[in-house]
Amino acid sequence: MGADDTTAQRLRLLQAEFLEHPRSGPGDGRSSRPSHSPAPLNLGVVDRIRAAVYEIEEHTRASDWAAAAGPLPADPAGVYDWARQHTAHLEPERQQAREAIIYRQGLEHAIAAGDTTVVRKHPCPECGCWGLYWREAAQRAVCVNRFCVDDNGMGRTWELKRLAHDHIARKEVVAHRAT
Ligand SMILES: [Zn+2]
Repeated sequence: MGADDTTAQRLRLLQAEFLEHPRSGPGDGRSSRPSHSPAPLNLGVVDRIRAAVYEIEEHTRASDWAAAAGPLPADPAGVYDWARQHTAHLEPERQQAREAIIYRQGLEHAIAAGDTTVVRKHPCPECGCWGLYWREAAQRAVCVNRFCVDDNGMGRTWELKRLAHDHIARKEVVAHRAT
C-alpha cells in the first residue's frame, strides 16, 4: 500500500505475456502450437527480468548488511517488496532513490510489454508540456514541442531515469504538503 506496486504488477505481466505463454507467430498461437514443440522462451525478456532483479538486489545489498546475508525471494516480482523491507530504515533521500529505480523499472517493464504510452503520463522536464512519446531506436522519450530544443537546436529527449526521478520527487513534494 502507499508505495506503488505497479512495477511488480508490470513485471508479472511481462512474465505472463512472454514467458508463460510465448507467442508463436501471428495471432494467439496457444491452441495451434503442436504439443510436441516446447514453447520457445523469449530470451530477451528473460535477460531483461534477470537484469532488473539484479539491479535491485545490488542496490539493496549495498545499503543494508542484513540484506547482504539474506536470500532473494523466489518470485522475481517479489524483489521490490524485499528491497523496501530491507531499506525502510534508511534516510528519506535514499528511500526516494530506491523508489526512483523501482519506478523506472516499472516504465521499462511496461515498454518491454509493448505499452509505450506510459511515457505520456509525465510532463516534459524542460517545457512542462504533456507531449512526450517513446522513440524505440533511441530508447528515450521525445518532447513533441518543436520549441523545446537544446543548445544545438535539437529536440529534447529524456531517459526514463530522468522521468522517474522527477516523478518520485514530485510525489514527495505532494506528500510533504499533505502533512
Ligand atoms: Zn519539452
